[in-house]
Amino acid sequence: NFGEVRGNHFHSGLDFKTGGVEGKSVYAIADGFVSRVAVSEGGFGKAIYLEHPNGKTSVYAHLREFAPEIASYVKEQQYAKQSFEVNINPPAGKFAVKKGQLIAKSGNSGGSGGPHVHFEVRETIGQIPTNPLNHGFEVKDSKHPELQKLWIYSHSESGHVDGLIEEKGIKLNGKSGNYALATDTIRASGIISFGIAALDRFTSSRNVCGIYSMNVKVNGTTIHKQQIDEFPFSKKRMVNCHIDYEKRIANRHFVYRTRIAPGNKLDLYPTIKDGGTIHIENGKSYNVEVDVLDHSGNVSSISFVVIGQARQGAVLAAKEEVTDIFYPNALNSFTNNSLRLNIPNNCLYDTLKFKYDLKPPCKECVSAIHSIGKLSDTPLDRSMTVSIKLDNVTEATAAKAVMVSYDKRGKPVAEGGSAKWNWMTATTRSFGDYAVMLDSLAPALRAKNFKDQTSTAGIDTLKFHLEDNLAGVRFYTGTLNGKWVLLEFDPKNNLLYYVKDERFISGQNTIRITVKDKVGNVKEVSITVR
Ligand SMILES: [Zn+2]
Repeated sequence: NFGEVRGNHFHSGLDFKTGGVEGKSVYAIADGFVSRVAVSEGGFGKAIYLEHPNGKTSVYAHLREFAPEIASYVKEQQYAKQSFEVNINPPAGKFAVKKGQLIAKSGNSGGSGGPHVHFEVRETIGQIPTNPLNHGFEVKDSKHPELQKLWIYSHSESGHVDGLIEEKGIKLNGKSGNYALATDTIRASGIISFGIAALDRFTSSRNVCGIYSMNVKVNGTTIHKQQIDEFPFSKKRMVNCHIDYEKRIANRHFVYRTRIAPGNKLDLYPTIKDGGTIHIENGKSYNVEVDVLDHSGNVSSISFVVIGQARQGAVLAAKEEVTDIFYPNALNSFTNNSLRLNIPNNCLYDTLKFKYDLKPPCKECVSAIHSIGKLSDTPLDRSMTVSIKLDNVTEATAAKAVMVSYDKRGKPVAEGGSAKWNWMTATTRSFGDYAVMLDSLAPALRAKNFKDQTSTAGIDTLKFHLEDNLAGVRFYTGTLNGKWVLLEFDPKNNLLYYVKDERFISGQNTIRITVKDKVGNVKEVSITVR
């Protein structure tokens, strides 16, 4: 649903499942005209944008194909530009559409994890995505949001929550909107804030969706309010401070926080004194009421009491090793003999206890492994710059160098970058382990569903397997019988393909394909088929 937490962004529309298959008919929601058609390898894949007279634009993405007259227009443009990826704005009068007109067939193109249609309603001016449920679309929803856990965060040096100096999580029990804490009273002092792990579902789907709004009152006064009706794309990544990022990574809980982090520039919250925190004074008692709502108005609530009591006895938290403290509204940097790190202003959302560790190089590395921050538990809004010193490289081998980070399973993931002297520099938006490796292998490219020098009668799509070992594919181009031919690329399936058309003649056809990876390794294939 709209505003749902996805990997590093708010979801900008509604996803309609298509029963696990492609090829369902997609119709225009209202009168208008085709204002944009885009084809990209990742992202929205094949997508169509309709502009409507009421100032809104509707978007339909991950399509398999466009309606015939649009499809042939797109193909013309692809041949004119000699590119599979295109982004076209047809003139306003070119493709007028009526409400209910067939515009495309659904698919799984681009960065899609299964057949579905991604649907958006945007304000045409500024292309700001808005909640489609605010525009008269109804999706049955009688299920209340599910509340999983309450988090209470302590923000002052001498404060605590039930004796803990950072935070405490308390399981929530209940159903049909009525929830209660496993413990009834919480003791705390100093500045605290709250977080609720919650999710929502529509009536006829098991899919986990995001909540629509949350309201928190303390002794009858609102200390926090949030509601997601729209957000600009430029702030979509701030979902990482809207929720508790660390807990999303650790246990896939979406914890909606009352405290607004200093780097949080979202307009989803009315201005409230103290930014969603409260100061607990000793001897006083605080009644906290939390309401979580979905778009249909189903409410789930909890209430509890916080009693002000000074911290007593030993502190129940381990002392952490910290390399440096970094601040959100400042330029932060870290340098040693083999690493230079620059984190620009407005990159961090909050104050960070920065940790650094030097690890020995791996067998395939031409640098040490630098452990920068903890593995992906601190979100960054903008890119930081990482420069790593290379060991034992010549100018020629440095040209094949690729900076890598390591994913959760320890597998290297290319981060790109460029080498100058014996330093490699790249930009990245996540912390973790970084090193430099060499990629001297050309991409793998081979025919998949046919063989050289054979007949391909009965096959309408000629498929090739295309995969690079490390740096990634930068470029591909093909000719059929000496002329440029449209090859479609689906990187998530390592699939490069040609859909036979009138250019495939009877008799012998020669296809030549050239592919290049991001460090210049080239592979060429020439195949002749009937
Ligand atoms: Zn979607």
